[in-house]
Amino acid sequence: MIAKNLKQILSELPEGVQLVAVSKFHPNEAIEEAYRAGQRVFGESKVQEMTAKYESLPKDIEWHFIGHLQSNKIKYIVPYVALIHGIDSYKLLAEVNKQAAKMNRTVDCLLQLHIAREETKFGFSFDECREMLSSGGWKKLGNIRICGLMGMATNTDNAEQIKAEFCSLESFFHEVKSTWFPDEGSFRELSMGMSHDYHEAIAAGSTLIRVGSKIFGERNYQ
Ligand SMILES: *Cc1c(COP(=O)(O)O)cnc(C)c1O
Repeated sequence: MIAKNLKQILSELPEGVQLVAVSKFHPNEAIEEAYRAGQRVFGESKVQEMTAKYESLPKDIEWHFIGHLQSNKIKYIVPYVALIHGIDSYKLLAEVNKQAAKMNRTVDCLLQLHIAREETKFGFSFDECREMLSSGGWKKLGNIRICGLMGMATNTDNAEQIKAEFCSLESFFHEVKSTWFPDEGSFRELSMGMSHDYHEAIAAGSTLIRVGSKIFGERNYQ
């Protein structure tokens, strides 16, 4: 079933859009099935769970951290994480840099923007993000690389609202790119779209979709 779901989603992806298979709360066996079907990029939202999976699964898997990252846990993922999607403060970015420096790594990061109407989602507002980038401190952080932006739309059936939120992030991406990263080829990722809204996200310019339940089935939590 997992292999079939994967194949279906991959067949819908235009060139330049990559799939992060969100395997949180699913066992190794589920990941192994996706792995055998060719999937190498997986997303997790808990540090301990991701680290345990990293240690027990094939080493050519690319692990993306998509959850809310706590400062005191950064050190556990820094040795192996391929991309951190949810950087939502300068402090967190500086802390990732500090841990990455200790391990002599450069860690790729995305800045998370708050685009949904819900109060609960994490992320910078557009203005907070502009302020953070204008202040310029991040330019001295030699062990992180800001590779793009990430956002989550409101959890709603209103496709127009979802589209509007994704489009606002896409236009902000261009503003950030042209203002602060005009010559950085590595600033190119726009992580948006989940199981219920990845079509809208792709239409709005997503380069990384994070899809879980549509591949692995429903999770028993939340
Ligand atoms: C869980 C999660 C996803 C995947 O959600 P699905 O609805 O299962 O596709 C994507 N992004 C983030 C940040 C998540 O926490």
